Amino acid sequence: MTDPTPRIEIDLVKLLHNASTLVTRLGERGISVTGITKAGLGSPDIAEVMLRAGVTGIGDSRIENINNLVDAGIDTSFVLTRSPKLSETDEVVRYADISLNSELRVIAQLSSSATAAGCKHGILLMVEMGDLREGMMPADLLQAARSVINLPNIYLQGIGCNLACYGGVVPDRHKMASLSKIATKLEKETGIRLNTVSGGNSANLDWALGTGRVGRINNLRLGEAILLGRETLHRQAIEGLHTDVFSLVAEVIESKVKPSRPQGTIAQTAFGTAETPADRGDIHRCILAIGRQDCDPEGLIPPPGITILGASSDHLIVESLGGEYPVGSEIAFQLNYSALLRVMTSPYVMHSLNPLQKPSILHTLRAGSRLLH
Ligand SMILES: *Cc1c(COP(=O)(O)O)cnc(C)c1O
Repeated sequence: MTDPTPRIEIDLVKLLHNASTLVTRLGERGISVTGITKAGLGSPDIAEVMLRAGVTGIGDSRIENINNLVDAGIDTSFVLTRSPKLSETDEVVRYADISLNSELRVIAQLSSSATAAGCKHGILLMVEMGDLREGMMPADLLQAARSVINLPNIYLQGIGCNLACYGGVVPDRHKMASLSKIATKLEKETGIRLNTVSGGNSANLDWALGTGRVGRINNLRLGEAILLGRETLHRQAIEGLHTDVFSLVAEVIESKVKPSRPQGTIAQTAFGTAETPADRGDIHRCILAIGRQDCDPEGLIPPPGITILGASSDHLIVESLGGEYPVGSEIAFQLNYSALLRVMTSPYVMHSLNPLQKPSILHTLRAGSRLLH
């Protein structure tokens, strides 16, 4: 019996390969990897595979996901990658070891929460390097670092920046050299050694895997590159990595030869105005039981012979060139980041780790970690 659809199939062996390859290549450059699980909805299986590959910690943007990982028994250093909400500092210090921060008010409250909980919490101060998402202006950094150093139950873990997320600013050697310089200067001014200088995310790989000097950058926070095998500036496949760790499988619920062009007076569709398709005569159309509620149809990569025509909330309409997909058959798609994110957060999509694969790989993981201890 096959698993229900829609389902997202996760190949843990390919995932392990991607994570290990990146950890090794970056390790040769003196850069550690924090594995980012947010696009995998904080899946403990994904986190476990990343740790097996040698990432030095697990990061996620949602404290709920980190809580879930802790409850699942994942034992590592956890990093909250989105600036904590003032309203969640108690949870943040309870579940995360380190958080990325750019607001002193929040850091002060993390200090209070950590004091109340009797724990210590690490701060990675984010520096604004031009992408205009999170970060302090470089001119404000020294004073902020001094405040952090003086707060109880808080320590300054290091600094970091995030590029190519909002503004599309490229983390090139100039930006990375600036961050290095900022790190060196801050150490000199505060007399404190920064353990972590975190240069960015999957968009940094062009730079990090190149031959230029890495300077003070000794960490990257990687999600997409591990999960989808691509760098994110041009979405090129990274050499030697698998781009098909995930496949989305949906089921055909209608398969018919119908006209290629809608018939009648055309107004808006359920999702705004659509371009009216050209009349190409009759074509073989299939409807799949998956829609915008479950995925981003623009981010699906169909198999050969299939073209995506459109989607509504619950239906994906495709053209099948061969017409070889009867009702009840399954079609598997590859995904981009946007589609993956939506798929993983849809309560309607089942997560399917290859049942033959999961026990064996997780067994190896556990056996491996026992051997190491
Ligand atoms: C999501 C995120 C990452 C990981 O980004 P990828 O492109 O998936 O590698 C790293 N840092 C921060 C702050 C993030 O929000």
